Amino acid sequence: MDKLRNLYQTVIMDHYRNPYNKGLKGYPKVHLKNPACGDDITIEAKVNNGVIEKINHNGTGCSICCASASMLCSLMEGKTVDFARKEINKFYDLVQGKDGDYESLGDANSLAGVASFPARIRCATISWKALEMVLEGDLDEEREI
Ligand code: ZN
Repeated sequence: MDKLRNLYQTVIMDHYRNPYNKGLKGYPKVHLKNPACGDDITIEAKVNNGVIEKINHNGTGCSICCASASMLCSLMEGKTVDFARKEINKFYDLVQGKDGDYESLGDANSLAGVASFPARIRCATISWKALEMVLEGDLDEEREI
């Protein structure tokens, strides 16, 4: 039960209850669904001169998925695309329980506990995957992951 309690830390619940940049404004977007959990997340971003000027999310899902999308938006807003790509890959390592230096991920460190719950890893990564696709210009209708 300790592990489960750690999974739902205060940081996660704060982001879940008071999400950062929730609501779409009409920028290029990717819509992903995780049928295993029912997570349904859209990430949109306005990129200008290699900088993510605006990033928003919208959707529904479990607390892990919604909190993660909020953390992603707060971390990436105003950052370069190069920074974002590096941090996305770091986040994938973090939630798989790999050793590394994750300080730059900020609040997203609170999701490290999902490594003990493989079924929930996709809940944590769905919004990060969506941003990765937006940055690649891989824009499409909604997809399942
Ligand atoms: Zn979920």
